[in-house]
Amino acid sequence: MSDLVTKSASDLSGLLNSGEVSAVELTQAHYERIDALDVKVHAFLHLDTEGALAQASKVDKARANGEKLSPLAGIPLALKDVIVQEGVPTTCGSKILEGWRPPYDATITSRLKAAGVVILGKTNCDEFAMGSSTENSAYGPTHNPWDLSRIPGGSGGGSSAALAAFFSPLAIGTDTGGSIRQPAAVTGTVGVKPTYGGVSRYGLVAFSSSLDQAGPCARTVLDAALLHEVIAGHDPMDATSINAPVPDVVAAAKMRDVKGMRIGVVKELGGEGYQAGVRQRFEESVALLEELGAEVVEVSCPHFEYALPAYYLIAPSEASSNLARFDAMRFGLRVGDDKGLSAEEVMNLTRDAGFGPEVKRRIILGTYALSSGYYDAYYGSAQKVRTLIMRDFAAAYEKVDVLVSPTSPTTAFKIGEKANDPIAMYLNDIATIPVNLAGNGGMSLPCGLAPEDGLPVGFQIISPAMKDDLMYRVGGALEAALNEKWGGSMLNQIPSLESALIQGGVA
Ligand code: GLN
Repeated sequence: MSDLVTKSASDLSGLLNSGEVSAVELTQAHYERIDALDVKVHAFLHLDTEGALAQASKVDKARANGEKLSPLAGIPLALKDVIVQEGVPTTCGSKILEGWRPPYDATITSRLKAAGVVILGKTNCDEFAMGSSTENSAYGPTHNPWDLSRIPGGSGGGSSAALAAFFSPLAIGTDTGGSIRQPAAVTGTVGVKPTYGGVSRYGLVAFSSSLDQAGPCARTVLDAALLHEVIAGHDPMDATSINAPVPDVVAAAKMRDVKGMRIGVVKELGGEGYQAGVRQRFEESVALLEELGAEVVEVSCPHFEYALPAYYLIAPSEASSNLARFDAMRFGLRVGDDKGLSAEEVMNLTRDAGFGPEVKRRIILGTYALSSGYYDAYYGSAQKVRTLIMRDFAAAYEKVDVLVSPTSPTTAFKIGEKANDPIAMYLNDIATIPVNLAGNGGMSLPCGLAPEDGLPVGFQIISPAMKDDLMYRVGGALEAALNEKWGGSMLNQIPSLESALIQGGVA
């Protein structure tokens, strides 16, 4: 494989600046790898080769003209297929949007383009970002590059797999209950859910509007910070966008110093139900932070126990309303339009054919929870629980600067293992969901391989709203200490995909 594809975005930025490599060459190197290996991984739903090469050559010309460029100009990126890009198909992993080409760019997309980032293509995901394994995609699952018979996490499994397979050094994910952090955890990559409102949702196809947040995915904490800087900041097109300066996450990622920081281990997010190797690697990392001079205490957040049921009322309720726009009249699929049927019949046939089982389950659940007579008992109660969870966070932050936990209770499970058991699937997000309910920032970074299965374990850092720099500071310091301990990045230990290809891997 070309050495170029294994490098971090920040290293590649240096090579581009010094003229050792051009953006076009870099883009081609990544496409070569994708062409050879994505048949096994299925990280991408669509490749925009022409658009990407045009952007790369534009950046090369601008550099040759001596124009001042952003640090990420010319760096390739994989975009989760729930974010719109003008003229490029956006499916949200659903049949109902098959063939739809958006007429505009999301704010994230236009900011990436303005920074000279090269968007390689759109990545696979669970349908409308509902899931934890990418098995709910209507276009077939994505395979984890660590072991092709396992899930790459979800819903953003295409983005995490693209990073771990060295198809792209950067990716964008979205996180409603954990879909950036859990895929990062199970693929040994870095994923950040910024503070709610920190990154614009304009052009992000809505699943649960009060929880959805797009964020950066990468292979290093610094790369995530560089991408964060490009996409974050106020946007008048999103009413929930925060109009305040973005914390200096890049400086924080480079600090590598946690002396005197107070770090809280959340008692409720660990212990029973968490895989032994996940607990072990987590505890070792906590000890490492202590060695680096942080003050570690245990904190209790008693209402986190109710986060999962509250989420599975709030998220489906908002989804049932958001997904009403897929009515066969405005976007994508239309079934039964043979002039003999009413608009309502066409709508029914289209939704029946276009939505998969998990999306239907959630629309039905949400519609029920919002219906008169049940609204107070279900949706209203869930909102009260949400307030209690926010208060738990507020009380914890009186004692500590950031909170930590394992990102996910287990390492990557086998494709198919939990597909028929929604509750087992929902439990994957037990440690990530409280963060979305409170709108805090959350990061997952790799903290070692579980001894029992040799698969990556994720370490979660949670920071108070609008203090995203704190999680980057802790993440940057921990990553450096872990690299020293393990002799380099965890991804150096990934079994080679080329050999999986030779052995036939898993279809
Ligand atoms: N796995 C969770 C769900 O299925 C979270 C999804 C997400 O963050 N988009 O809803």
